[in-house]
Amino acid sequence: MEHHVCPEVPMSFTEVADGVHRLSHAYVNLYVVQGDDNRVLVVDAGLPAMWPLLGEALRSLGRRPSDVAGIALTHAHFDHTGFAAVAQRRLGVPVWAHPEDFFIAAHPYRYAHENLRALYPVKHPGSVRILGAMARAGALKVPGVRDLVPYGADGPLDLPGAPRLVFTPGHTFGHCALHLPDRDVVLVGDALVTLDPYTGVEGPQIVAGAATADSRQALASLDRIAATGATVLLPGHGEPWRWGAAEAVDEARAVGPH
Ligand SMILES: [Zn+2]
Ligand SMILES: [Zn+2]
Repeated sequence: MEHHVCPEVPMSFTEVADGVHRLSHAYVNLYVVQGDDNRVLVVDAGLPAMWPLLGEALRSLGRRPSDVAGIALTHAHFDHTGFAAVAQRRLGVPVWAHPEDFFIAAHPYRYAHENLRALYPVKHPGSVRILGAMARAGALKVPGVRDLVPYGADGPLDLPGAPRLVFTPGHTFGHCALHLPDRDVVLVGDALVTLDPYTGVEGPQIVAGAATADSRQALASLDRIAATGATVLLPGHGEPWRWGAAEAVDEARAVGPH
């Protein structure tokens, strides 16, 4: 399914792992995980423009909005919470997140980051088209999200895909990846990306200090992603990585903080 919301930025919806579908728009990914029953889990809430796209995506799977069991946030940056408040209101579904990220969820533009963001487009012209596309998809107008539900213990969540939480702080202090052992994938959010929106550089890496709270902690958290032993990593930005978690982590460490 291909759609054109912003003229030059297509939306795509593709199955990237067994029963795991990626909805991609404006260089932001979210994922729809199908369960054994009709229920689906949505991982991350993208940008505001992705709300109607989610409806179309569900239709293409023969699912309805009422089949959404809830939204699991990897973290609460505005490009991952875009339609969370709308979904709470319209669908009445729970939105889970780590409590450390509750504050930024409620205040989308007051997050911790190491480096001055304004300099990145100057140093990294490749980021201009990405950040422009994100802005046109509503990145500057994300409403705060309240009434988030805290993730419980780290056992499998009773949700489609039986995800296990992998606490991976650093990008934000409450960042969590979701490991789906049966599907051999980890939904890594922004703990490890294959496209950095702030530089335009592709390949496995942590996100630039423009949007990362603590790069050292983010690099240390990569051990937990490697320890899953999963083959496929599905990031919040960029293409799927299909060559093993440990290999991705090695590459990201070689790139280092930036
Ligand atoms: Zn982020
Ligand atoms: Zn992001």
